[in-house]
Amino acid sequence: MERISITEWAERILHDAASTLITPTAGECLVCFVARQVDEFGCDGTHRFAVHYRDSVAPRATGLLVRLSAMGACCCDCEMFMNSYEPAARLWTPAHESVSSDDVDEWEDPEPPDTVPPCETTRRGSIKPCGNWERIPRSRYR
Ligand SMILES: [Zn+2]
Ligand SMILES: [Zn+2]
Repeated sequence: MERISITEWAERILHDAASTLITPTAGECLVCFVARQVDEFGCDGTHRFAVHYRDSVAPRATGLLVRLSAMGACCCDCEMFMNSYEPAARLWTPAHESVSSDDVDEWEDPEPPDTVPPCETTRRGSIKPCGNWERIPRSRYR
């Protein structure tokens, strides 16, 4: 009988889940799809979800990974959310003044939303994100 470690077993289960569960919903854009998957399954250090999206709905977008790299997401899916896209400004809690317990005025930074609303959808075959997302200006990280 084949003996495998718990880790290997868990990886197999995860792998099975990942290969059966991930399908972009109708019209779902690349960025919402990848966000949803990374949230659910985590990043494994590759572009597996972006590539899966392309293979499923945008097979002609052959330059996808080159494009993502150019936007700072060279190596894996979660980098898209660190370097390339962030939730659109209108979804954030704006910066505001708050008074702390010792009566000092404090300035609260804008806060990103916990969750992004359902995808506003995109044209099938496109790898453009919907209106939920905005490009992160590169200057911020330089
Ligand atoms: Zn990653
Ligand atoms: Zn979307």
